[in-house]
Amino acid sequence: MRILYNGRIRTLNSSAPFASALAIQDGKIIAAGNDGEIMAIARSTSTLENLEGSVVWPGLTDAHIHLEYYAATLDLVDCETPTLEECLRRVGDRARLIPPGKWLLGHGWNHNQWPEGFGTALLLDSVAAQIPVYITAKSWHAAWVNSVALQMAGITAETPNPEGGIIQRDAKGQPTGILLESAMNLVVQIIPQPTMDEVCQRILKAQTRLWQFGLTGVHDFDGTHCFTALQQLQERGQLKLRVVKSIQRADMENAIGVGLRSSFGNDFLRIGSVKCFSDGALGPHTAAMLEPYEGEPSNSGELLMTEDEIFETGRKAVDHGLSLAIHAIGDRANRTVLNAYARLRTYEKSQGLPALRHRIEHVQILHPQDYNRLAALGIIASVQPLHATSDMLMADRFWGTRSAGAYAYRTLAANGTQMAFGSDAPVESPNPFLGLHAAVTRRRADGQPGLNGWYPEQRLSLDEALARFTIGPAYASTQERTLGRLAPGHYADLIILNQDPFHLPPGEILNVRTIAAMIGGEWTWVVKG
Ligand SMILES: [Zn+2]
Repeated sequence: MRILYNGRIRTLNSSAPFASALAIQDGKIIAAGNDGEIMAIARSTSTLENLEGSVVWPGLTDAHIHLEYYAATLDLVDCETPTLEECLRRVGDRARLIPPGKWLLGHGWNHNQWPEGFGTALLLDSVAAQIPVYITAKSWHAAWVNSVALQMAGITAETPNPEGGIIQRDAKGQPTGILLESAMNLVVQIIPQPTMDEVCQRILKAQTRLWQFGLTGVHDFDGTHCFTALQQLQERGQLKLRVVKSIQRADMENAIGVGLRSSFGNDFLRIGSVKCFSDGALGPHTAAMLEPYEGEPSNSGELLMTEDEIFETGRKAVDHGLSLAIHAIGDRANRTVLNAYARLRTYEKSQGLPALRHRIEHVQILHPQDYNRLAALGIIASVQPLHATSDMLMADRFWGTRSAGAYAYRTLAANGTQMAFGSDAPVESPNPFLGLHAAVTRRRADGQPGLNGWYPEQRLSLDEALARFTIGPAYASTQERTLGRLAPGHYADLIILNQDPFHLPPGEILNVRTIAAMIGGEWTWVVKG
């Protein structure tokens, strides 16, 4: 038995929300209480650990992440630098570590930030002449490559611009090394896919990073590769993160074929929902809206699935014990998904099937007539608070006053919607304290858009936001009896914080650091010094 005592433990157990001590056996909490109560059950063989008054929370779960993709970004050279010179220095440092034949990949440059403007292939050659180099811009809409990469891709003065893309050229017509939009694919298609072993190594690195952020679980939305890598890590005993793995829609038939059902697996790796897309996104104005985008009278975005298609997919899924997680951004997409879910609920009932924990991913904007429908239908809102503050200016501009129903977490919480918070990393940082900060303040890290935040009536209290990073995801994956709280019968998944977020002004929550993480009663990460 392991006893943790002298802590300031927030249990999220409504019948006893605070404790100073926990008794842990076989990875689970067997008792929570004050030091006296818990010490009384200690045995001579028990390990005692003094928390020295530290703040303890249940480990947090990110309910929407792209684990493999996020892990891949950790290997990229960080090219978000104030000057081109600094960027070249970093590329040169990395180039010395890369064996011949391997690629150097980077991300983050922004020529608007650099006095020199765009980089060139020749500049990259000056620091990395032997290996191919491919560096995406911060916008992801352009890439900067060196001469080896141009050569390997066969890009010369004679190469025509591909449809939807531009090979930037100098005065003599020679490629400069900058590729715009679809021209990036000329190089992307020749970059070798990472081996399974490389994917495993990257995910391990990401796992440590996630512990450092205070995460002990994730709901992953990447593909088969990621699932295979996670299984291999688990076989080796290296998976120390509770992962709920979604299935891509294209793989649903395969999943049904082998009889995989949602919640199959174990407490470290289990099957989640089938992921579908009902529309695009706000940025490119492809999210499906009931009314046109502001200033674009002929564009209302586009539905990628009709109500019937969603219902038919859902019927097949629930017949085989699979729940759905449907990406829906625009108000039309959300309404269409809700209409299909309403029919699916009727179907489940008529067939004597359980009401599965279906989800909508993002729920970015709802029409007021739909505010109550997720709660009424028992559909989980899987939302990402950082999207609210990242997108707010775009939302105001392209959705106008409709934005009152965008990222409307208070509205959803008030009508009883089950909500799970995530980050959509690597789109946003997976640091959940940034997400908590955004949900509580509706402000960006730099304070925009002012003291009260964006649509301040949609702010949540810290208590409410914390529940959506703990209890909410546990409910979404039907693990609410074992995850999300520090209560008897629950796994000892917990984090120690460097300060108490409940004693900080809301604007400072984003500075809170995790100094230790325990998963299943085992310390997986402890800050040094
Ligand atoms: Zn996503």
